[in-house]
Amino acid sequence: MSVPVLMYHHILPQSSFITSSVDEFREQMSFLAQNGWTTLTSDEFYRYKKGEFTPPKKSVLITFDDGWRDNYIYAYPILKEFGLKATLFLITEWIEKASECKENFEPMKHKEAKKEVSQHPAKVILNWDEIETMKDVFDFHSHTYTHRDNCFDTVTWKDEFQKSRRMMQKRLGFDDLHLCWPRGIYDETLMKQAQEEGFEILYTIQRGINKPDGKMDEIKRIAVKKGAKWLKKTLFIFSNDMLGSLYARIKND
Ligand SMILES: [Zn+2]
Repeated sequence: MSVPVLMYHHILPQSSFITSSVDEFREQMSFLAQNGWTTLTSDEFYRYKKGEFTPPKKSVLITFDDGWRDNYIYAYPILKEFGLKATLFLITEWIEKASECKENFEPMKHKEAKKEVSQHPAKVILNWDEIETMKDVFDFHSHTYTHRDNCFDTVTWKDEFQKSRRMMQKRLGFDDLHLCWPRGIYDETLMKQAQEEGFEILYTIQRGINKPDGKMDEIKRIAVKKGAKWLKKTLFIFSNDMLGSLYARIKND
């Protein structure tokens, strides 16, 4: 058995680069809810990987990267409606900046939203109040402090880990064990460093299967594509050890 991990970024009225449309997302979530899929919490997934927890056969982990505000506006109500769980990886510096002032949400494509981060973070990035509201559906974890994008500060990798972890403790009250690499960038040295700072489970952007084998340092994820049909096929493949390993080697299906 393998638990597939799905990777989303933006949910917006129109689909585009790393963006699912609201309609596609609703269709996918409706498919999961109506076909007996269990969406795991991050802790359940962590214990599953360690071999300490056996989830139901059709289980999946839904993840979101970065902490875009459209997740609150569009994804949160849909997940809630279908009674599903998800995990969101936050760039903690961006959330802090977005929480400093109030601005109206504006739906924006990824490229534009990214440009707004340094000038008007509150417009496009989640704030701590919204995160508090979303807690009934989402688990929140670290996606480093700055995402290595230099939108505000430029920090060392050590600070990426430490500052992010400190912020999670201060704002959400727990020692974070889960780290998602920004843009999937990492190497052996960084993995070791992250683990030394207290992160125990590391999420990549590589496709593949996730078996309950205690190997915590390279969680495989699948970038989401269009519609329920694609999702049905993908979950079938990546729930299966053999098929999933085979398909992981094929780049674009
Ligand atoms: Zn990211």
